[in-house]
Amino acid sequence: MHLTLPEFLAHAIALEREAAERYLELADMMESYRNDEVATLFREMVRFSRLHHDEIVERAQGIALPQLRSWQYRWRHPPEAGGDEAFDRGLSAYDALRYARENEFRAQAWYGSVRIAASDPELRRLAATFAAEEATHVQALDDWLARTPRPSVAWQIDPYHED
Ligand code: ZN
Repeated sequence: MHLTLPEFLAHAIALEREAAERYLELADMMESYRNDEVATLFREMVRFSRLHHDEIVERAQGIALPQLRSWQYRWRHPPEAGGDEAFDRGLSAYDALRYARENEFRAQAWYGSVRIAASDPELRRLAATFAAEEATHVQALDDWLARTPRPSVAWQIDPYHED
């Protein structure tokens, strides 16, 4: 994906803002289920996303940023979780972690593809840094998924299983 630095910064800012908003929703949801452990994790992710957002905004000072369309940065539900209707019912902690994990992975893959295509060294450096950061988020969520019980009925067919 070949982007200019302003396009990249606009996208990164939107991704972090989106992540903070989704994690806040997930944290509130987990809190309402009295799942304080996972709620705490999601609140930490809100904090990291906001910090990162503010750093990128700072980096973008004085640069005119393009407008983006929401489909370019919105989080998506895994198809088996019911698409955009998924939040109408309660998500289990496992499903919530899975949802976050898939979207962190999309962000990581996106930064990685920008890095590969970038000819500007500064853009390549930023994309590599952000991809590495998203990789640590994916790993953190994978660690939680490994110790979170799966819901009994769902996930028998698992299109995301990677090994
Ligand atoms: Zn992330």
